[in-house]
Amino acid sequence: MFLNLESKNVAERYGLPLQVRFCKLCTVSNQRPRISFDDEGICSACRYAVYKREQVSWTARERELQALCNRHRKSDGSYDVIVPCSGGKDGSYVAHQLKYHYGMNPLCVTWAPLLPTEIGRSNLDAFIAAGFNHVLGTPNPIVTRRLTQLSFAHMGDPFQPFIYGQANFPLHMAVKHNVQLIMYGENGEVEYGGDMKNAFRPTRDIADHDKHYFSGLPPDFWAEHGVSLADMYPFMAPKYQSIIDNRTEIHFFGYYKFWDPQENFYYCVENTGFSPNTERSEGTYSKYASLDDRIDGFHYYLGLIKFGIGRATSDTAHEIRDHKITRDEGIALVRRYDGEFPQRHFRDFLEYCDISEEEFHAVVDSWRADHIWRKDGARWMLRHPIWEEGAGA
Ligand SMILES: [Zn+2]
Repeated sequence: MFLNLESKNVAERYGLPLQVRFCKLCTVSNQRPRISFDDEGICSACRYAVYKREQVSWTARERELQALCNRHRKSDGSYDVIVPCSGGKDGSYVAHQLKYHYGMNPLCVTWAPLLPTEIGRSNLDAFIAAGFNHVLGTPNPIVTRRLTQLSFAHMGDPFQPFIYGQANFPLHMAVKHNVQLIMYGENGEVEYGGDMKNAFRPTRDIADHDKHYFSGLPPDFWAEHGVSLADMYPFMAPKYQSIIDNRTEIHFFGYYKFWDPQENFYYCVENTGFSPNTERSEGTYSKYASLDDRIDGFHYYLGLIKFGIGRATSDTAHEIRDHKITRDEGIALVRRYDGEFPQRHFRDFLEYCDISEEEFHAVVDSWRADHIWRKDGARWMLRHPIWEEGAGA
């Protein structure tokens, strides 16, 4: 039996404050790992949004980007930048900008989804057809499936194997193709709340990979659970020394250009053949973000279980910061969608993880923290939903 149904100490594991508080400007709470709140009750992501709007000189940043590209541009026809891109709106925007506005020669790299969707694949095909060189990394699906099962059971997140590959595959491609520059889209830690140490610089330390992307558990943790090093190899980073010898630099496009996901969406509809989904994603109201993987909805759902922060909370929080909706509208959307169960791909998920519905719910419930959830009869209820804020709950 690979399931681990013991109650997890979620608060301690993620260092969560036991008193739930919501940001005064957006919908995120202090339960998001690594986020900080200031004395006025405003989250680090909202502070950063104001800084980015009011204080950054985007013309100066534009010059920095030109200089960066000039420094890395190659004259022998070889690739000069790696762009991690699934065919979604963000990576496609970055790749298109770098190639067609800055004259770079990008190699676009995609780590295969666990269970791909049709809309995701057709957007990737449309993106490649817009004129890009592209490599798809596809690990052994038997291993991927096993890692998904284990990470769901032990880490409360079935998406971990994808996150490993997504973070490490671009590093492999950079080393292999002798490319020094890797350009990501936004720095999620800074834009959405988290570790602010990179807020004022364009790069990320390679050494932070394990901490931010693997929840403190590097891929070889799984060797203890019967997954061999050979199985794990495609998921792991290249040797540290080879990354250093290559003089690899990881940069964020969001440092150089004002980052606005909705604008990226419009840009990609115009330039890379991107199509939104025909129906909204479960757990939220949007149709154009994170469309590639049928497992995706469970990653967001586990976020709701562990932190009380579902997909609609994440979407509304950044749309409030981006001035697309008001906080009151955001709260109404959270109330309506945040707790929605990802039913559409539930059968696929159970089959992929080889578990029953009862086992699924037992694992999920083992990740509920007492300070976030209470049980009302047979129903789990949030102790502090944002729409009851100030009601003395
Ligand atoms: Zn906020």
